[in-house]
Amino acid sequence: MTTVGRILRQATRTLKEHAVSQPLLDASVLLSDILKREVWWLSVNRDHLLTIQEVFDFENLIARRAKGEPVAYLTGHKEFWSRTFAVDSRVLIPRPETELVVETALEILAPARPPSPLILDLGTGSGCIAITLALEIKAATVVASDISLDALRLAAMNAKIHDVYDRIHLIQADWASCFRIPGTKKCPGIPKNYHGFDLIVANPPYISPNERNIMDREVLEFEPELALFSDDEGLEAIRSILKEAPCLLKEGGWLLCEIGWKQGKKVRRLAKETGKYYCCQIKRDYSGNDRLLLLQRGSNG
Ligand code: GLN
Repeated sequence: MTTVGRILRQATRTLKEHAVSQPLLDASVLLSDILKREVWWLSVNRDHLLTIQEVFDFENLIARRAKGEPVAYLTGHKEFWSRTFAVDSRVLIPRPETELVVETALEILAPARPPSPLILDLGTGSGCIAITLALEIKAATVVASDISLDALRLAAMNAKIHDVYDRIHLIQADWASCFRIPGTKKCPGIPKNYHGFDLIVANPPYISPNERNIMDREVLEFEPELALFSDDEGLEAIRSILKEAPCLLKEGGWLLCEIGWKQGKKVRRLAKETGKYYCCQIKRDYSGNDRLLLLQRGSNG
């Protein structure tokens, strides 16, 4: 029989030997998940005895963590905007900096909030952005697309968990290619009097394949390539979105697109070249890096 304190010590040592950067924290999070307790509970119950099953389950997770598998895939969930989302290797793990998309979307829609805004989330993955917006703006109708059916299955599960399945319309699409204004192709969830979306949000893949060699092994080996990489120095997906979004937005509607920290200047230029937007801003994340492209569809759009 072993105790919380002893097994945590052993696991921390194992993870350290495998160069995991936060061995004690990761071991604690994994053990607390198995025991269905908060992390703090472990430190005040170090003499608590574990069952054989708990020991087996924990040792299995620690072995996988030692090989680099991210904690979120091991526990099967990740926090985003203070809510828990189911995640697995079918989708990108939601990142804290992506909360800037949500924060900015809420700021934009707040002052002149249309009574029931129509929002499109391109490349929804786990659904974390779409579902958060649906929860924060109760009257919103949200359409969420992804090219990956596997990702859409998980997004559907998250929408059910968060009780917004009825208000989120999931669509398999390569960026905006399946939507055309109005009615050239029927899109579930789009109201009859559709004049375009009030807001389009996206966190597209924006890493250049050339950056593989400087990437974190854990990301590279475990997260889906489709969600990470884009050709043309990471700009191909952003370019498609910039080109297609004006056809889908209402006059004065907004596009918020997450970008890579070195892409600010380039995406500003690409947006300008389209001639379809009149307000262009780049927002920085809390680390001070360019992170979000903010555009409003212009009158000549
Ligand atoms: N929208 C999802 C997220 O922000 C997925 C993004 C992606 O797969 N590139 O986590």
